[in-house]
Amino acid sequence: MDAGRIEANLQILSAIRRASGCRILYSMKALPLVPVLECLFALDGVSASSLFEARLARQVLGEGADIHLTTPGLRGHEFAELGDLCSHISFNSLPQFQNLNGLANGYSKGLRVNPKLPFAADRRYDPCRPHSKLGVDISLLDKCLPAGVEGLHFHTMFSGLDFQPLLTVAAVMEGLLRQSPQLKWLNMGGGYLYPQIADAGPLIALIGRLRGEFNIQVYLEPGKALVGNAAYLLTTVLDRFDSDGKTVLVLDTSVNHHPEVFEYGLQPALLEADGEGAEQSAILAGSSCMAGDVFGEYRFRRLPAVGERLVFRDVGAYSLIKASRFNGYNLPDIYMLEADGAHLYRQYGYEDYRRQWDKR
Ligand SMILES: *Cc1c(COP(=O)(O)O)cnc(C)c1O
Repeated sequence: MDAGRIEANLQILSAIRRASGCRILYSMKALPLVPVLECLFALDGVSASSLFEARLARQVLGEGADIHLTTPGLRGHEFAELGDLCSHISFNSLPQFQNLNGLANGYSKGLRVNPKLPFAADRRYDPCRPHSKLGVDISLLDKCLPAGVEGLHFHTMFSGLDFQPLLTVAAVMEGLLRQSPQLKWLNMGGGYLYPQIADAGPLIALIGRLRGEFNIQVYLEPGKALVGNAAYLLTTVLDRFDSDGKTVLVLDTSVNHHPEVFEYGLQPALLEADGEGAEQSAILAGSSCMAGDVFGEYRFRRLPAVGERLVFRDVGAYSLIKASRFNGYNLPDIYMLEADGAHLYRQYGYEDYRRQWDKR
């Protein structure tokens, strides 16, 4: 984990926060690492998906922080505790709202709205896909909102590199805001890589206008934008051989440490790979039994040898949190890269593996 990168991303988010007057929450599901939560003092809190996330956030951030929660998976028996822990809960469906909202008080009630405007190229990522499970269909809300609802939430993007989809959805949400003067807040979700978007002007203007026109608090809840580019996966080449005329390098990691590689067919960026012009290429494969445990084919000026280090970058979000010990291979050690060097933060061993599978 590169602490300097997180700091730089925080500064970009803080600048948007200052210029627009919005509030910014970290979507902790991307990486709930405690040192990341501890550096959120420049932001307003977190958005959480579950009881465990909400508990961890409250313990680390203390009483003052905002904790927003939305999930299709609210459990009735957990709701009283969630209502105490969270400042805001956005219900995912009208039945979920009706069945649970009264089981606690002291939190602000919202609805996650599904604006039915698809932007994701891959349907598996698309909250607005047909028959979606995420959010109340906006057409069900055109008459009026249920009594007690103070806020609206939407989240429809993944890794967005320009704000056009956000502006489009916000324009549709404005219809609901106009007919509902009781609303106090609008949470516009995550899904944008703010540090990689050169001009935040359209976003800042949108937030300023929504706050002024409707007298509401506006929230953003980025996950990957804060941590995505702030971690590296270091790996060592264990074996090298030819397979049907191509070189295969077996690594001491696997796609089980970075599951989106397999789930979404992504090829993660490798620091040592050369682009065009590099003569040699090799397939980087993980060390598990699964045939599809492959990171992809990479080009090199010189083929890495057994024992050499290779480094994947941009693995901060949705990798470690989804990592498993499949095949009995250990989870990665976690080092914090600070100004004075890398410090070991967490290391797992055989005892942790055994504890997971043995009740003794
Ligand atoms: C996952 C998620 C986020 C964060 O998404 P990023 O793509 O990491 O910015 C924010 N809000 C909700 C509701 C989410 O499900």
